[in-house]
Amino acid sequence: MKAVVLLSGGLDSTTVLAYALSQGYEVTALSVRYGQRHSRELDSARAVAKHYGIKNHVVLDLDLSYLRNSALVSKEVDVPMRDSAEGIGSEIPVTYVPARNILMLSLAAGLCETEGGEAIFIGANAVDYSGYPDCRPEFFHAFEEVLRVGTKAGVEGRPIRIETPILRMSKADIVRLAKKLGAPLELTWSCYNGKEKACGRCESCLLRLKGFEEAGETDPVPYEVVA
Ligand SMILES: [Zn+2]
Repeated sequence: MKAVVLLSGGLDSTTVLAYALSQGYEVTALSVRYGQRHSRELDSARAVAKHYGIKNHVVLDLDLSYLRNSALVSKEVDVPMRDSAEGIGSEIPVTYVPARNILMLSLAAGLCETEGGEAIFIGANAVDYSGYPDCRPEFFHAFEEVLRVGTKAGVEGRPIRIETPILRMSKADIVRLAKKLGAPLELTWSCYNGKEKACGRCESCLLRLKGFEEAGETDPVPYEVVA
């Protein structure tokens, strides 16, 4: 059985890749260079794919920098920095990339259909990032329906499933699962800033650090500051 795994190179998608492999899937990895502020994530995605001996790793260029109001792809909007993880997720943050998961799943769906895959794995999480509308269960259910009616595979009775194994997990649960599966967390990169070390103050760093702490584990990635 084959599957496409969306691999950004962060903690979540790397854990999901490890999970898909543990379930026996032959994996095609898909990474998208969508105009992120830095290429650290993509370097991590390559290293993780290499670690797992993924032969088919597709890296796509898709310039989303025209989405000017997102801090992740626009140089005009700063990545918010905080002192703690408190209050994260209470509103849609400026790091939201408009329609990102719709775009990513569409790209993955084409690849999945081409490869004869039966599922797309995505490391979306609805707990810590409740502010992102395209990380909610109802979005993924709706998108499965799109794939059922809008692809050859779907019409012929082989609809592509969307697998979201960490959707309802806390960050600590994700760290525990990653550890259990032996995922190479030292190769991952979650920081929104692309400096030498992870910044330790962006929302992504703070949630990751909190997850490791709650799981009683040490994050192998070096940080500039740890709050
Ligand atoms: Zn950071």
